[in-house]
Amino acid sequence: MNIQRYYAVDVVNGPGTRCTLFVSGCEHQCRGCYNQSTWRPDAGVPFTLAMEEQLIADLNDRRIPRQGLSLSGGDPLHPRNVPHIRRLVKRVRRECPDKDIWLWTGYQRAELNAAQRAVVAEIDVLIDGRFIEAEKDARLPWRGSRNQQIWYLRQPQGERAESDTAEHHAEECDAQRPRRESPVQHQQRGHADRG
Ligand code: SF4
Repeated sequence: MNIQRYYAVDVVNGPGTRCTLFVSGCEHQCRGCYNQSTWRPDAGVPFTLAMEEQLIADLNDRRIPRQGLSLSGGDPLHPRNVPHIRRLVKRVRRECPDKDIWLWTGYQRAELNAAQRAVVAEIDVLIDGRFIEAEKDARLPWRGSRNQQIWYLRQPQGERAESDTAEHHAEECDAQRPRRESPVQHQQRGHADRG
């Protein structure tokens, strides 16, 4: 698997302070995508074992407490990335049990194959769907267009285990998290706003 960028400390892509990995490879070709250079799976640099070790160490670094890991791209559920991402999320579950895992994909949850669903089974939050320019809304938390949906898969305190509508989650996010001036937008992940 190749990656575009890794941020050891990130406060934009997901709640709290996080480690964020932007992988290479995306087959959705959304109109309005900020950086088509993320589309090729062989773009960027290989994600090495040394990088993986560093990511795990960063997540467990108590000097800068991280809430969790954000996986973005590109698309972490691109078929070529799935075996590597599955291995990574299983390792994070095992070695960083108090961290949450958020993952952004251009696929819709309903169309995921068995291998992709096996990744989703290991994460806490999935944001799914292609970026659709006509549905763009900069006010949405954690996503760029209204068609995209946030799935809270592992709620703390035994709360809801599945997702509702995107609108419902917008209210939930507003109520539960501090408002951010620059909520993540799928089409911007690792793209123009990163410079
Ligand atoms: S917006 Fe996201 S899903 Fe769409 S082409 Fe760009 S990287 Fe892929």
